[in-house]
Amino acid sequence: MVETYMPDSARTYRYHIVTFGCQMNKNDSERIASILGGMGLEPTNDPKEADVALINSCSVRQSAEDRVYGLGANWVGLKAAKPELIVCLTGCMPGRDKDGRMRSRLPGVDLYFPTKDMVYLPQRLAEINPNLRPMVDLASDYLSLRPTYQKTCQAYVTIQTGCNHFCTYCVVPFARGLEANRSLRDILDEVRALSAGGCLEVTLLGQIVNHYRAPDPEHFSRLNPYAKNDFAKLLWEINEIPGIARVHWTAPHPLYMDAEVIDALTLPKQVNYLHLPVQSGSNEILERMNRRHTREFYLEVVKKIRSKRPDIALGTDIIVGFSGETEEQFAATVALYKECDFDISYHAQYSPRTGTVAHNIFQDTVPRDEKRRRWWVLQNLLESTVRRKNQAFVGKAVEVLAESSENGWVSGNSREMKRVHFPGGPELAGTLQRVSVERAEEWILWGKPV
Ligand code: SF4
Repeated sequence: MVETYMPDSARTYRYHIVTFGCQMNKNDSERIASILGGMGLEPTNDPKEADVALINSCSVRQSAEDRVYGLGANWVGLKAAKPELIVCLTGCMPGRDKDGRMRSRLPGVDLYFPTKDMVYLPQRLAEINPNLRPMVDLASDYLSLRPTYQKTCQAYVTIQTGCNHFCTYCVVPFARGLEANRSLRDILDEVRALSAGGCLEVTLLGQIVNHYRAPDPEHFSRLNPYAKNDFAKLLWEINEIPGIARVHWTAPHPLYMDAEVIDALTLPKQVNYLHLPVQSGSNEILERMNRRHTREFYLEVVKKIRSKRPDIALGTDIIVGFSGETEEQFAATVALYKECDFDISYHAQYSPRTGTVAHNIFQDTVPRDEKRRRWWVLQNLLESTVRRKNQAFVGKAVEVLAESSENGWVSGNSREMKRVHFPGGPELAGTLQRVSVERAEEWILWGKPV
């Protein structure tokens, strides 16, 4: 038998990406997928099949970093059987690793770069393996790269990255740098292209999304000539794009929920949900966190939001056991929680992050067991609140964006971002359905199509 010679450059190369952390990291991974796809690589779900294996890391908690160290070591171990495997690590860990301490714990990783340097990935891969040709001509601003979207009907659209606020516990300003806003024209072009491709729901992403300031405001149309706030104006613009049915944004800061942004919550395509992080209900803790607002300010913002949109579902983030948090200060958080009657909340037990102000100047005084106890207090409160609030949906019809179907059940979110299951097949995926809710659990509303 005559063997056909196939040069390495002619075979199919594959990549495998694992993403840790927030929606912005997921959206960054979609951009990296575009870069690797542009180089001719194909995705694989199996790291053993990959020629390029990439971790997009998260630094928000030590547990997230520990998982990255574990996976990185695991993949480096795969090189024993496949020495040509290129292991890459990007995201928040390289972004904030100013002294190289984290890098030194990942000796077998070949490429280690902050998110914004993804534009150099083709050249750096080609330097290691010349068969991986840099087939793409990339702009220097990674935010202008078009993502390879995971779904057709829903998409993340990053409008801003980085942050100037320096909350004392947070690594974001170190990991992602200072706030950088994406060009308005680029954002609108992306949303129009998404709409043309059948996208129904866009989620605008930013570290303080409602602090968006357009670098190119001349691209605003005169839809609302009286508006001054660029973020509110952006919401008006996106509401005018045909085909887009739902607009969602995360995460805003209470400080920038001004009258124009609150008014924009009443725009027709706005989902009936707002995620508004509070972190603590104690003024002393808010001050130590450098959140720049008080408990009273937050409650006033919530009141204004509900006066404009009384039935809006509200979500939040809370950190328990922050440096020096007393039982009374935690009780103030519980009281605020009850007053706001949140529909969903994400609770974190405080974990000091090296390099942050809180790590440098405060003591981590709350014992681990006490943090866990406080976490459970909030978690139980969340579950009882959600159970009660979800019961109110029984007998009502909600609009659901059908995402997927399994075993005859379709799954998707209502405009309140509640998960809804109803009977149906895969042909419904990517469509909007009216669903009558028949039964409510904590995390799922069960219904049937109207
Ligand atoms: S506002 Fe605070 S918590 Fe949010 S990204 Fe900026 S520094 Fe971090």
